[in-house]
Amino acid sequence: MVFVSPRLTCFGGVGEIGGNKVLLEDNDTKVLLDFGAGFADGFEYYDSTISPRGVNGAGDLFEFGLLPEIPGLYSERSLQNTEMKYAEPEVDAVVLSHYHWDHTGRIIYVDSKIPIYCGETTSLIHDAYTESSGSPLDGHPIRKFRTGDRFRIGSMEFVPVHVDHSIPGAYGFVVHTGEGALAYTGDFRFHGPAGSMTRDFVNAAKIERPRILLAEGTRVRSDDTKANMSEKAVLNEASRMVKGTKNLVFSTFRGNDVDRINTFNEAAKVSGRRLVVSMKTAVLLEKLKADRRLSVPRVGQDLDVYVRRKKSGRLDDSDYYAWERPFLNQGVNATDVREKQGKVFLHLEAWNLPELIDIKPDRGGTYIHSATEAFNEEGEREEAIIRNWVGHVGFKYAQLHASGHAPMKEVGELVREVAADMVVPIHTENPKLFKSFMKEGRGALHLPQKGKPIALE
Ligand SMILES: [Zn+2]
Ligand SMILES: [Zn+2]
Repeated sequence: MVFVSPRLTCFGGVGEIGGNKVLLEDNDTKVLLDFGAGFADGFEYYDSTISPRGVNGAGDLFEFGLLPEIPGLYSERSLQNTEMKYAEPEVDAVVLSHYHWDHTGRIIYVDSKIPIYCGETTSLIHDAYTESSGSPLDGHPIRKFRTGDRFRIGSMEFVPVHVDHSIPGAYGFVVHTGEGALAYTGDFRFHGPAGSMTRDFVNAAKIERPRILLAEGTRVRSDDTKANMSEKAVLNEASRMVKGTKNLVFSTFRGNDVDRINTFNEAAKVSGRRLVVSMKTAVLLEKLKADRRLSVPRVGQDLDVYVRRKKSGRLDDSDYYAWERPFLNQGVNATDVREKQGKVFLHLEAWNLPELIDIKPDRGGTYIHSATEAFNEEGEREEAIIRNWVGHVGFKYAQLHASGHAPMKEVGELVREVAADMVVPIHTENPKLFKSFMKEGRGALHLPQKGKPIALE
């Protein structure tokens, strides 16, 4: 047993957006805050055609420092053909801020004996993905929490406090250690429908006078000049766009952004349309019904489910997985959409665009790109392809999105208000810009280095 004084080490999210992997150590307790995949992880070596080999488990990621070589963290299978020897768990838990891939994605390599702590809503989202496409949390013991709970892991005490973000069930944390408190924001915004939850987090964090604040800064950039669109503004604008055409409206957006689903469901309703979502989203909405604090549209009553052709192409029951079959009778297919195109608002993810070949919509409809505008080459390529499809069917292209992250100014306000002794920027490409948030003579900015411990004392 090695005793270490409280410290944290960032193994991801350092100078990059996403990929948070923060190891907290206090005496012999070790906890990971998130264990995500970075959006640009390994793009110098891997792409859609060159991928890490399954047979080498974590080894093909260790090679480029894309995963930290922490003993007692990984599963036997992840290490079976690598130089690292398997050891029984030495990490006590992974504590999740929310269910986005850039915070959960690398859990697939983690020993399934290690428990995952997550919000109750996140565990429902996990259940939905287990049923449809699989979840990175599969096989792990799940320990659930809610705002108002406190839980201990070894020598640390965690206080989870909800924040508003573009997926339900997002949290920030105050963590008490032997050397004072640490606060971690997770991903947050104030301009969503539940912005007051982020306020609750700020209030809970500042009274603890934390030694360290780990704050995300996705939108911290010198050219953050774009207006900060709220979810409410998206609703108003979408309603206007939908009323502006008598033809089909379709949109690409993240199928687990429940705020956006509610927004588009509302926009569809005001113009006498029905929102039609993917089966994967339908399963998620069905699971989230169990969360009484969330308001989600009811599948079949408030919105419909799109049924695409598979295998035989004849829409036979046997063409579909068991989890898809319950939606077959109440679903709408390409023919239904074509027949009712003026009455439909269709959720069509980018990979599913070829469905337009079956739908054959009349020209003159509207397409809404409801996601962040492309910020890298890969994104630009995808956007170009979407534009080609939209042009091919003769639709109008519109961009409409409210970010899941607070703009630079509001990140600065949070940092100043929490007033921690030390501020560690994470989940940002511009950690140095946090300098402008620091009050004169109060608190120090610490730019994290990947794999280098930061002491809490
Ligand atoms: Zn993130
Ligand atoms: Zn996120």
